[in-house]
Amino acid sequence: MKPITLVHFAELFLKGKNRDWFVQKLVRNINRTCGGRVVKRHSYLLLEKGKPENLKYVPGISWWAKAFRAERNLEEIKKVCAQILKKQKPQSFKLEVNRADKTFPYSSYEIVKRIGELLEKETKIEVDLKNPELIIFIDIQKEDLLVFSEKIKGLGGLPVSTSGKGLLLFSGGIDSPVAGHLMQRRGMHIDLVHFHVFTKAEKLKETKIFELAKTLAKFQAKIRLYAVPYYLFQMKALEFESNELVLFRRFMLKTAEELAKKSGAKALITGDSLGQVASQTIENLQATDSAVKTIVLRPLIGLDKEQIVKIAKEIGTYEPSIKPYKDCCSIITKKAKTRSNLKKLEEIEEKIEIEKLIEETLKLVEEIEVR
Ligand code: ATP
Ligand code: MG
Repeated sequence: MKPITLVHFAELFLKGKNRDWFVQKLVRNINRTCGGRVVKRHSYLLLEKGKPENLKYVPGISWWAKAFRAERNLEEIKKVCAQILKKQKPQSFKLEVNRADKTFPYSSYEIVKRIGELLEKETKIEVDLKNPELIIFIDIQKEDLLVFSEKIKGLGGLPVSTSGKGLLLFSGGIDSPVAGHLMQRRGMHIDLVHFHVFTKAEKLKETKIFELAKTLAKFQAKIRLYAVPYYLFQMKALEFESNELVLFRRFMLKTAEELAKKSGAKALITGDSLGQVASQTIENLQATDSAVKTIVLRPLIGLDKEQIVKIAKEIGTYEPSIKPYKDCCSIITKKAKTRSNLKKLEEIEEKIEIEKLIEETLKLVEEIEVR
């Protein structure tokens, strides 16, 4: 029996006439991540060969299963079920039928009853309708008759690239990788922008920044990383003794906005969570956001640290995230005011000629493709 992978998509039923377009994106993403050949059906997909274990990296999938094809008659269906039972050897089992093809000559009840009895006799394994150890699903579709026993839960959400592109302000801490991942799961393809203390981006290759970028890249095949040195800002800020965190935040957002314009990203994404630190009070978030016109998405805004850590562990970013790293904010003062004065910030920005500073900084940006 050669298995095939049955893939059910998540949420796509919501999408009316755009549905085909969504399915097409999902097919392409599965192909890129798993290889093999994807066969498109109306309400599901089939993956032939390839690496089905990589489906766990593909947003837009509700569940998948290793399935076996059966001929369209009870005897053949029974044979496939028997092989599954003999291989898995459960204490008890139950059959569940999805008779999507209404022309199939037996009702679901008849199928379960007849095949169940035959299987009990043949395998000596009992049917238990209330608390079976194994459920065997018999999926009768017009084009395929599939039998499988384990549904594996997918990431859910929407296929990457169905919600456009976003640019993630990526710090290498616990939060921002999770923020980026949540947007990937809402169908965004993300680019990363990281402000670093080095003079050359080459240095980043030995740090956790690369490791984290690689982890996020798994969910969309490859990822672009903009490495932005921030020493020009630092020198100016020191000169004017304006080492305010909110000022730095505004500088990061403004610089990111310029990069987003060039790359076609429609949104900026950050890992802020309300009240987590002084720079993340509602007043300071407002003061930060007013620096740009582009929408700033903060998918973690309502989550607490425990919830964020849980997701980080699930997606594999937690371990790299907690590795030590010399980030910009360890140089900028941590003692942010909880309420910044917007007028004063704008005055300082004028003094340090922020627009010029950003222009100069943009010339130093290095673009790296991470796979
Ligand atoms: P994280 O765990 O993501 O570092 P954090 O809780 O440490 O978050 P802050 O350091 O206050 O929070 O940063 C808030 C957000 O600002 C980050 O989630 C990230 O989006 C952005 N950010 C901070 N430092 C950088 C940086 N060096 N480069 C790019 N973005 C950054
Ligand atoms: Mg941080």
